[in-house]
Amino acid sequence: MGDYGAPLFLAWQLTNGCTGRCLHCCEESGRDFIWKDEMNREQCLSLARQIVDNGIAYVAFGGGEPMSSPHVWPIFETLAAGGVEIKIETNGLDLDDAACDRLRAMKIACVQISIDGKDAATHEKLRPGSGYKPAWDAIDRLVKRGLEPELVFIPTRLNVRDAVAVYQQAAQRGVRTFVTGPMMRLGRAARAWDALACTDEDWAQAVMGLKAAAATLKGPRLAIYPWGIQREMLTRAESPQSMVLVVPNGRAKLLNALPFAVADLKKESLTSAWPKVGAAWASREVQDFVRRAQDEPELLTHANECWDLEVSTR
Ligand code: SF4
Repeated sequence: MGDYGAPLFLAWQLTNGCTGRCLHCCEESGRDFIWKDEMNREQCLSLARQIVDNGIAYVAFGGGEPMSSPHVWPIFETLAAGGVEIKIETNGLDLDDAACDRLRAMKIACVQISIDGKDAATHEKLRPGSGYKPAWDAIDRLVKRGLEPELVFIPTRLNVRDAVAVYQQAAQRGVRTFVTGPMMRLGRAARAWDALACTDEDWAQAVMGLKAAAATLKGPRLAIYPWGIQREMLTRAESPQSMVLVVPNGRAKLLNALPFAVADLKKESLTSAWPKVGAAWASREVQDFVRRAQDEPELLTHANECWDLEVSTR
């Protein structure tokens, strides 16, 4: 990452508010979980303009539910006009015909929608407030417009045996990519880990079934993340990506699993924050946290906090 004067990629959690309240939400989002200090319109648009000015190639929006942010469209329009590619991770509830038309007009690069069961009962048990039919309807509207949506499936002990059935459904609906991987032990998922996590054997079985289904059906591309969040932290600590995570209050962080916040983008520029991200990855505090989290998973329950970390960039 030291080779670049700005991140190649920015992950932006626009709000912590969400119509859903999923049992395995990494961010602990929900209707009543909007942060009091989330960035306002002017601050969001300032960051969007800096993203364009810094030539950042790609921004992935998550949340909470990014489409529920009142600032989402002007941000998207600023980025799209500046040639920045946009990805959205959404529950699909806000993607009506008009919204899909706008996404098509701005040539959105990627829309990911979560489907966590082969039927409404399983999906809505894991994802209360998210809606199974509305999610599929949104996928259909995107497919109809040639936007090739991606489907995200998070395995838990409640739905891991549905993985192949959901892949088959995705193949019939024209989904571009079926994205899955071990549930991340963060946020609500970390707190409910013992009740929600599937066994390694069940996950291995699901992976085998998915690979067989993909080979037979020649349906959506299969993208299986190879490891869980603790291994991800180790991998990134050894070789950080050229990316920064911006959380709803404008704090710049390194990775969703790490509570450290190195800059406040309400008050300082992206250009000044970026070297701090690199310095933070190399810091003793971050490296120790990553190492300890391998054996002390309770540390992962702090992921969504913002711990100030002062680093020297000299
Ligand atoms: S839809 Fe996404 S952001 Fe909202 S509660 Fe569920 S997992 Fe969290």
